[in-house]
Amino acid sequence: MKKKAIIFGISGQDGSYLAELLLEKDYEVFGLIRRHSVSENQDTRINHLSGIISTSYGDVLDENSVIKLIKSVDPDEVYNLAAQSQVGVSFEVPKFTLQVNGIGAFNIFEACRRYAYKARVYMAASSEMFGNNIDSDGYQRETTKMDPVSPYGCAKLMAYHIAKHYRRTYKMFISNGILMNHESPRRGSNFVTQKVVKTAVEIKYGLKDKLILGNLDSKRDWSHAKDMVRAMHMILQHHEPGDFLASSMETHSIRDMCDYVFKKLDMNYQDYVAQDDKFLRPEELDYLCGDSTKIRETFGWQPEYDFESLMDEMIDHWMEKLANTHCLEIKP
Ligand code: NAP
Repeated sequence: MKKKAIIFGISGQDGSYLAELLLEKDYEVFGLIRRHSVSENQDTRINHLSGIISTSYGDVLDENSVIKLIKSVDPDEVYNLAAQSQVGVSFEVPKFTLQVNGIGAFNIFEACRRYAYKARVYMAASSEMFGNNIDSDGYQRETTKMDPVSPYGCAKLMAYHIAKHYRRTYKMFISNGILMNHESPRRGSNFVTQKVVKTAVEIKYGLKDKLILGNLDSKRDWSHAKDMVRAMHMILQHHEPGDFLASSMETHSIRDMCDYVFKKLDMNYQDYVAQDDKFLRPEELDYLCGDSTKIRETFGWQPEYDFESLMDEMIDHWMEKLANTHCLEIKP
């Protein structure tokens, strides 16, 4: 019999790649999607899977919709990827972020406890939970002190602790994936990687002349989302639940990223990129670099992409997409 998986957040970057991975592994895939006023916008990342996956309308804050889906599917695996996922925006809508990312996760765990006790549950935790704590060797790992510096990080920490509490108290199979930043051509267009790559390509095509960013010196550990969804699946195949950090184990500044992307397009980022304080967060997170030794040694997980191949794929995507949209050719 086919395994059944529910993905909360199936219409997101990770949800769409995870759905593809699980279909390749012969799962039946179910997902919850939110109603949007422009219905064409709500499932652009999973349109190509229509008729292959099953989706229903709901919201993780509407516990009835969560319960209804879990009861009707009786899943083997449940992935909670649903979130208000933008850290900067969480300062503007802190209560909403706490509700979706914290209470929303609780609603899923509790529904599983009551109606799908045997299901294995994955919680999308985040490296934002560490805040500015770094171990003395320059890495964050599963044991690093967690002290978040944003409403987003606080909400994820709440969900992370509820997951551990349900694991201990109710002996449920709930695992936390503590994932460092991960990107792809499907990343939301207001995240910094997409903003840098898309705007650099627009400048190359003569559609824009400047790229305005926040803190150019903040450093992140970037992976490809496809590598990260493989990690999520592996985490749920383990013989016991736990907490696992996945990362590239390399860190790059936003400035490094601009340098690489503009050079790749035969430009110098210093001619086009400016910093504006309005894009700084009220409390900044300066540095992330994850030590993923545990997941690498436990499962043999290895990323297939590095920083350069990730950026190259995103550049190719925007070159093609903008050329097709605007019937353009590259400026000589
Ligand atoms: P994403 O593209 O923003 O996807 C988030 C998904 O959650 C979307 O499908 C979104 O639906 C859905 N969602 C939001 N609020 C919801 C609600 N109230 N009820 C039901 N669904 C809701 O994020 P992602 O990059 O794929 O990330 C997946 C998960 O990993 C998130 O929990 C994120 O916080 C976490 N994470 C991501 C990263 C990263 O670097 N990407 C790193 C660490 C952890 P709509 O399309 O309707 O908004």
